[in-house]
Amino acid sequence: MSLMKRVVPRALGAARTLMDSALSDSVVVLNYHRVNAIPSCASNLTVTAENFREHMRVLRERYEPIRLDSLSDLEQAFRARANGKKRVAVTFDDGYADTFNKALPALDEFQVPATVFVTTGNLDGSREFWWDEVEELVMERIPDDKLDSIFGLVGDGPIEPKVTVPACAKRRSTYYAQLTPLLKYSTEKEIQLIMAKLRKLAGCGALERDTHRSMTVEELKRLAANPLIEIGAHTVNHLCLSTLERHRQHEELRSSKEFLERTLGIKVTSVAYPFGDESAYNRDTLAVDQELDFSLGLTTRPGVVSPRTRKYEVPRMFVKNWTVDEFDRSLKKFFWIG
Ligand SMILES: [Zn+2]
Repeated sequence: MSLMKRVVPRALGAARTLMDSALSDSVVVLNYHRVNAIPSCASNLTVTAENFREHMRVLRERYEPIRLDSLSDLEQAFRARANGKKRVAVTFDDGYADTFNKALPALDEFQVPATVFVTTGNLDGSREFWWDEVEELVMERIPDDKLDSIFGLVGDGPIEPKVTVPACAKRRSTYYAQLTPLLKYSTEKEIQLIMAKLRKLAGCGALERDTHRSMTVEELKRLAANPLIEIGAHTVNHLCLSTLERHRQHEELRSSKEFLERTLGIKVTSVAYPFGDESAYNRDTLAVDQELDFSLGLTTRPGVVSPRTRKYEVPRMFVKNWTVDEFDRSLKKFFWIG
């Protein structure tokens, strides 16, 4: 038998074993942002504290909640595992104060571990993230008669106008839906310019709602001191990494990682890319991950984690403000379609 004939079946067998393992024992990583009670929900970023508590109860009762860092070595994580409950890891993005105030009590109650990816540039300040402010300004505060000026202001700026004047009633949601991707790919300067114009249309200054603030450093320290919590990097300024030169990507990731390690006295081994979809990071990002010795890089691309998952492109499932039944059904679907 030639070497080729002996090697190929063995390789195919190994691949099949891995695939079988992936299908039977995949892991779902859930992605939360805010846990609070907020009326406006265009962004779907908020889960109420009541629903969140129910989600954690379901995870504790019917699944095996795991630490994200148990996936650091993916091969090891799927090796020699007795068939047990399906594994789920919980993550939060951005570093909102309510991760500490509202989510932590439920995590504690049901002993569910979680990883919190922190945007370090927003800590200890009252500044809101632009997407929260845009939602409030466009959906609530800009008066009806000034709404169509949004079209003009986007065109006035350094960015080409990509919006078209919507025909009628759903103007607010349409403008919101069009502004969000536009801002996502903008530079810091362009974002500031557009935000200033939106505030002017609404007749207000920068919003500083307590419900939308990030953690203080003191709150972050108390959160990180809980043994259930792992802290990960989420850059300094929450810019879309794929729009940045490689050296700026390096700076964003290194500075946030070092700040967290210095402030909290921990080792930061995972990073979540801002926005996180496939257009939000690129090859440079993955190379920088390697240079900075991250073990895992998390995206917002939907999917399950299997032995075939690339360590710097770990998929996550976005969680909405689901009732307990919706959450249960969604989890089953995630494992099924993942
Ligand atoms: Zn984020």
